[in-house]
Amino acid sequence: MKASTVFIALFLLLLSFSCTGNEENRKVNILLVLIDTLNADHLGCYGYYRDTSPTIDSLAASGVIFKSCQAQASWTLPGMTSIYTGLSERSHHCGYYDGTLYGLDPEMPTISTILQQQGYFTAAFVRTEFMGNEFGMDKGYDSFWISKEWSTKDVVTVDTLLSYFSNNEVSEPFLATIHFYDPHSPYQPPSPFDTIFTSSGTTGGLDDWPIDTNLWSDTALIEHLEALYDSEIRCTDSQLSRLFQSMREMGLMENTIVILIADHGEEFMEHGDTGHANNLYQQTIHIPLILSGPGIEPGSVISLNAGQFDVLPTVLAYLDIPIPNHIEGINLFGDIPEDRIIPSSGVVGDTSMAACLQETIKLMWFVEPDSLETYDIAADPGEMDLLPADSLLLEKVLSYWASPCICTPTCNDSLDFVNKLQALGYL
Ligand SMILES: [Zn+2]
Repeated sequence: MKASTVFIALFLLLLSFSCTGNEENRKVNILLVLIDTLNADHLGCYGYYRDTSPTIDSLAASGVIFKSCQAQASWTLPGMTSIYTGLSERSHHCGYYDGTLYGLDPEMPTISTILQQQGYFTAAFVRTEFMGNEFGMDKGYDSFWISKEWSTKDVVTVDTLLSYFSNNEVSEPFLATIHFYDPHSPYQPPSPFDTIFTSSGTTGGLDDWPIDTNLWSDTALIEHLEALYDSEIRCTDSQLSRLFQSMREMGLMENTIVILIADHGEEFMEHGDTGHANNLYQQTIHIPLILSGPGIEPGSVISLNAGQFDVLPTVLAYLDIPIPNHIEGINLFGDIPEDRIIPSSGVVGDTSMAACLQETIKLMWFVEPDSLETYDIAADPGEMDLLPADSLLLEKVLSYWASPCICTPTCNDSLDFVNKLQALGYL
């Protein structure tokens, strides 16, 4: 066994020891922070060159950061569903397939339904329709607030949560889910964040989305938009700071574990596209995963592969609640197999693709047109140097793609939502 492997094994043993679920943990509150459109590579704690994330960096230093967390899908609805259910995209089948939108299976347990049954008070504060009741995403929440207006900013979501906790007798333990949406396009950071990374501020930015493909070759514009995206992240980070500070003052943070994760990332022409939902390169699926709270050793760094579908089993194990057998993710406080395979898929509009990551090797299969790309994402994080396809990994991708859905997702035929997908540039 290599020295590094021994070190990782010892570290995981210590970590699993300090975080093993027990009776006491059953009373710990959960603050689930979902940040929309947040590529891990744009955060200081993941090595980014801009100072976008002082609060998120401090959170990572106070707990455990998973350096290699992959989204299971390329856009909001399926990615968030994987976080809620512990399932891959092929298994939950929430998303847009063959012209029809599908939402959560009403019978499928989620983080909110399971914790509610365990006596938790559950509340959610979210933005965008794809997190709403139309797709079953409100189930299991005792209190549910949603804003579907573009003009709502994260400051309003944080205000709403804080005012709810100030004005209501919230029983503990609780699950509070908060969804930050500002980093999603269009990038219109408010002052003073608008000029933090670009002197021209939102001037020269874009109000109309998606970006006209004729403008994609305008390198200066793309760089400007990326700076504005970073400014939105910094703005969201400041709201996160306000949320933590206020909850601390209300005495709500001492006995609370914070879980921070994203649904997908964002790309800026690194592979010939902008936005997300176009492909499964790391700009789209490398997302942050940070946990901090009672019993978690500060400053822990895990390089082994994780996924969105690990959130639910990790929370359940931490709270000493049995993990249902159908869940595909694993408890990240237990043993993480070094060679585990993390699947992702992207199905929206004309795009169909699947990928599997094993150790550092990622194989992507673009279903239409049928093509394969393999990269070593540790040695080549930009995914520029094609490697020969590994036949065993290809088998895994094909078998993942062919795996049956284990849910009965609800069909939502509303044209409004299809139009919304079009407005977002997904179709
Ligand atoms: Zn999203």
